[in-house]
Amino acid sequence: MIQSKLVEIRKQIGDKVKLIAVSKNNPVSKLSVAYEAGQKVFGENRVQELCTKYSELPKDIEWHLIGHLQKNKVKYIAPFVAWIHSIDSFELLEIVQKEAQKHNRKINVLLQLKVAQEESKFGMTLKQAEELIHAFKKLDMPNIVISGIMGMSTNTENEEIINQEFNELKKHFEFLKNKYFIEETEFKELSMGMSNDYLLAIQNGSTMVRIGSLIFSE
Ligand SMILES: *Cc1c(COP(=O)(O)O)cnc(C)c1O
Repeated sequence: MIQSKLVEIRKQIGDKVKLIAVSKNNPVSKLSVAYEAGQKVFGENRVQELCTKYSELPKDIEWHLIGHLQKNKVKYIAPFVAWIHSIDSFELLEIVQKEAQKHNRKINVLLQLKVAQEESKFGMTLKQAEELIHAFKKLDMPNIVISGIMGMSTNTENEEIINQEFNELKKHFEFLKNKYFIEETEFKELSMGMSNDYLLAIQNGSTMVRIGSLIFSE
């Protein structure tokens, strides 16, 4: 079941889009099935669950923290996390730099932008993201690679709204790329799209889709 889902999704998204298997709330046994089927990239949204799974699974997995990250928890994931999708303040970025440095690692980060209508969605406005980038460029942060942006659409059946929001994220990505990162080849990722909207996200230029329930739920 998990294996055939992965095959089907990979076929749909092609090899230019990275598939992040979002394994939150699923037992290690299910992640192992996906791993055996060749899936080496996993996403979790809670620090403690991420750390537990990291300790129990093979060490060649590339782990992505995709959920809201509290500053006092960065230290637990800094030794191993490959990507953090949820940078939403400069203070958080500074702590990621400090903790990554302790382990002599580079961590790829994405700036989370908010375009969805819901109050509950985390993320920065475009203006806040620009302020963060200004502050970042003034300092030396050798252990951080700003690699793009992440966003979520409103939880709605209305595809027109979702399409508009993904289009807006794509425009924000292009704007930031052209204004601040034109020389930086690493700034190239646009993380958007989940189980219900990943095809729409890819049509709008997504380079990383975060898919959970479609892979793991029966
Ligand atoms: C849970 C989650 C996903 C995956 O959602 P599904 O609908 O299960 O595919 C993607 N991104 C974030 C930030 C999540 O928390």
